[in-house]
Amino acid sequence: MLSVAAPILGAEEKAALSDVVDSGWITMGDRVRAFEQTFAGHHGAEDAVAVNSCTAGLHLIMLALGIGPRDEVLVPSLTFVATINCVLYAGATPVFVDIDSFDRPLISIADAADKCTANTKAVIVMHYAGYLVDRREWRRFASSRGLFLIEDAAHAAGAEQAGTLGDAAAFSFYGNKNMTTAEGGMVTARDAGVLERIRQMRGHGLTSGTFQRFTSQTVGYDVTMLGYNYRMDELRAAVGLAQMKKLSGWNEKRRALTCLYMKRLKELCPGLTLPFTDGEGSSVRPSSYHIMPIVLPEEVDRGVVIRRLKELGIQTSNHYPAAHLLSFYRKHVASVCLSQTEEFARRELTLPLHPRMDELQVECVANAVAKALCR
Ligand SMILES: *Cc1c(COP(=O)(O)O)cnc(C)c1O
Repeated sequence: MLSVAAPILGAEEKAALSDVVDSGWITMGDRVRAFEQTFAGHHGAEDAVAVNSCTAGLHLIMLALGIGPRDEVLVPSLTFVATINCVLYAGATPVFVDIDSFDRPLISIADAADKCTANTKAVIVMHYAGYLVDRREWRRFASSRGLFLIEDAAHAAGAEQAGTLGDAAAFSFYGNKNMTTAEGGMVTARDAGVLERIRQMRGHGLTSGTFQRFTSQTVGYDVTMLGYNYRMDELRAAVGLAQMKKLSGWNEKRRALTCLYMKRLKELCPGLTLPFTDGEGSSVRPSSYHIMPIVLPEEVDRGVVIRRLKELGIQTSNHYPAAHLLSFYRKHVASVCLSQTEEFARRELTLPLHPRMDELQVECVANAVAKALCR
């Protein structure tokens, strides 16, 4: 079975893990710090804070920016539910925003503007499939309204300038992302004070960590804020450092495979909509090429296509079911109609894309999609 995503782990990760075991120190220490600095440098950020998931990172961003009860936060509905949950954790109110179009399934500025109220405090943009939202437009939007601009950059590890668009950003290193530590995340923030609050909040709000107390003269600690246990550990940081070395090459491979997909699918399946392509069938915006989404023709039964591809050994998935239509959010968030998001979510299909694939496999999948559509 050709899977939609696959982690790439090998000798380097094994050696890195083995080094940590031999070192005798497995909880947050020097390797976590090195991972933070390497990751920040790679994305053009000053510094970063490692956490145990992107979701934890988003939660801490909400708290560190002072977002809470009575505040409204604009969020896409075409996203993973963590984007929305972090707003609810903080006691604030998520307000769902539609996507721009099928060609550009990113949170819509026009709809976001319509949904601003006196209580709107922030907007969370999500770089769907790894394609960055427009930096300049979103900065202007947020600054003209006095809103915090937050990035859910879970899809965008390695994309140029990801994590530096707005006030703060969270990345994910979950097993199906462009680089992985199995579970893990990273936070960047423009304001050094905000980032330091996040650093302290990740470790129970303590003014010093176990490693600092172990390695320096600091004996005690104070607690100056309500903290959480959202720490990363040395094992994960060691894997993360090993993965960082390969991230650019992997993303370049993803780009090449995506270009080939777009070219072939355009030739073989003219009825498909291929998001993020220009007239030439190639991508036009900065991206980490996280996933390969296509939109099936209106009249096609997606279930049938999924089944036919599965019979040919090709796994597919859906990014994402519209969040505002899921039971929990129907019950706890004000209902809205987001026509573009709903239609996109109904017709979207995600094809296999990961750096272990080769060009022949892309050709096979494109041919299989064509066959599945025209039968
Ligand atoms: C994977 C993902 C998350 C959650 O990341 P975790 O590290 O598993 O918490 C959040 N948002 C988006 C868009 C994601 O794809």
